[in-house]
Amino acid sequence: MGATEPGIDLILSGGKIWTENPAQPEAEAIAISGKQIVQVGSAAEILPFQGARTKVVDLQGRRVVPGFNDAHVHFYYGGASLSSVQLRSAKSKEELRDRIAKFAQSRPKGEWIQLGEWDPQAWSPSVLPTHELIDAVTPDHPVFVNRVDAHTMLANALAMKLAGVDRHTQDVPGGVIGRDPDGNPTGIFIDAAKSLIERVIPPLTTHQMAAALLEAQKHAFRFGVTSVQDMGFVGPRACESSGDLLRAYQLLLKRDELKIRTALHTPLPQWKKLSNLGVLASFGNDTLQIGGLKGFSDGSLGSSTAWFLQPYSDNPQNCGGPSDELSNPEEMFENMLGGDAAGLQLAIHAIGDRANSMMLDSFGRIEESNGSRDRRFRIEHAQHVQGADIGRFSKLRVVASMQPYHCIDDGRWACGRIGKERTKAAWAIRSLLEAGTTLAFGSDWWVAPIDPLAGIYAAATRRPIDGSHPEGWVPEQKISVRDAVRAYTVGSAYASFQDHRKGSLESAKLADMVVLSRDIFAIDPEEIAETKTDMTVLGGEIVYQRDGSI
Ligand SMILES: [Zn+2]
Repeated sequence: MGATEPGIDLILSGGKIWTENPAQPEAEAIAISGKQIVQVGSAAEILPFQGARTKVVDLQGRRVVPGFNDAHVHFYYGGASLSSVQLRSAKSKEELRDRIAKFAQSRPKGEWIQLGEWDPQAWSPSVLPTHELIDAVTPDHPVFVNRVDAHTMLANALAMKLAGVDRHTQDVPGGVIGRDPDGNPTGIFIDAAKSLIERVIPPLTTHQMAAALLEAQKHAFRFGVTSVQDMGFVGPRACESSGDLLRAYQLLLKRDELKIRTALHTPLPQWKKLSNLGVLASFGNDTLQIGGLKGFSDGSLGSSTAWFLQPYSDNPQNCGGPSDELSNPEEMFENMLGGDAAGLQLAIHAIGDRANSMMLDSFGRIEESNGSRDRRFRIEHAQHVQGADIGRFSKLRVVASMQPYHCIDDGRWACGRIGKERTKAAWAIRSLLEAGTTLAFGSDWWVAPIDPLAGIYAAATRRPIDGSHPEGWVPEQKISVRDAVRAYTVGSAYASFQDHRKGSLESAKLADMVVLSRDIFAIDPEEIAETKTDMTVLGGEIVYQRDGSI
C-alpha cells in the first residue's frame, strides 16, 4: 500500500488505541477500508495512507478500545422498554402508582402496560406491591409489569380478570402465584406462573418487533456497543415467539437497517428445528448469526428462586429450585445432549450454586458422550459458584458469561438473602479469571442498563449503586479495568465463535471501535462512571457521535 492508497475510507489518528492484540497492544492510528481494518500503527505509519476520499478523524489524544460486544441482552425488551413506563427509579410504591397512572393516561384504552422494571429494594420497607395499589388508576388498561430481575411480575385486577385468574386458580409448577391469607391472588406472579397472564396478552407483529429492535440498536450505539448476543424472549412464551424474533431481524437485514452485529439465541427446547435445517453454531454472516441455544436451569436471586445447595438465609424453608425447564431433568439433559451432538452451542442460565454445579455436571457428561471438540459451552450469569466448582469452568472450557452490573445492583441486598459466607462466592469474577476461565461480559439489558462502561466500573470497583461499601462489596473479587475490557471485547467475541473476525483491532478484522471521552486505563476506576462514548464506529461507519465531542 502506498502513500496514495485510494481504498482507505477512514483514518483515526492521534489517539491512544488499545488494540487487544498482544503483539501490538497500543497504537496511535488506524486505517480502515470498507468495513475492515487495513493497518494499525503510529501516526507516521498510518497518515500516508490518506487518499482523496479518506475521512480523517483527529482523536485529540482520546482512548479507543474495540467495539463493545454485549454477550447477554434481551434486545426486543430493551428497545420496547425505552418507550414503556419507567419504574426503575421509582423511590416508593406511591411513586410507582403515580408513574403508572400518568403513563396510562397517555395510552389508548385497552392497551397493555408492560415491562417497567420496578425495584422494591429502592422502597422502605421493601415489600412487594399488590394489585390494589394500581387498580384505581388503571381501570381501562391491563397492567403486567416486571420487577428489575424480570422473574417477578405485578398484574392489576383488569389483567387478572382478562386472564380468568382468581382464588380458584391452581398453582403452577415452577412458579408462584402471590396470595393473601384468604387465597386471593395479590397480583404477584413469579416464573412459570407468569404464563397465566401472558397467554392473554396479544401477540406482537413482526413489524412491532422490528421497530423495537431498531430503537434498541440506536440506544446501543450511544454506549459503544457494536455487537450483541440476544438471548431473546424469556418465560413461557419464549419458544413460540423465537421464530418471530428471527423474522424481525431478517426484515431489518433485508432493509439494510440492521447494523449491530447480532447473535440470536434460540430456546433450548427448539434445538431439533435448527438441527433439521442443518444449522450449526454461529451460522450466518458478520451481521446476523444463529446457532446458539439458550436454556434455563433456575430462577433469580431477587425473586428467591435461584437454586442453592443451602436454604436462603432469610427463609430456612427455601433453597430456591429448578426452572420450569429443569423440573424435568432428564428431558432438559436430553435436549442439551441432542443440541450439542447437532453441533449447536449451549448457553444455560444458572444463578444459584446448585444450578451452576448441576450444569457443570451436565456439560461434563455431554463432552464424555459426544466427544471433544471446540464447542464453547456457556453458563449465563454464573452468579453464585461454590469454591469446588470454580476450577471446573476452565477444566471443561466453559465460558462464564457474566453481568458485572448485577453485582453492584444486587450487592445492595444480596447478603440478607444468602448470608455473609456465601457472598464470598457471589460474582466470583476474580476467582474465575485466576482459575483460567474465559469471561464474556454483558449487561442483561433490559433488566440492567446496557452501558458497558457501567459494567466495567462495576467489575473494577464492586461499589453498590446505593453507595454502601465504598471500598467494594467483596473487594477481593475486583478485577482490573483491562481484564474487564477484555471480557467485553475478546471474551464475548470468543463466546460467539467470532474472535477471528472481531474483538481486537488488527489488520483484516472488522473495523468496530469506540472512542471514549476519558482514558479509562489511566483514571481512577471510580471515574469510569462519568466516562462517555464520544464516537462509535461499526464496520468502518461512524454510527454514533456525541454532540460537540469530536
Ligand atoms: Zn437474561
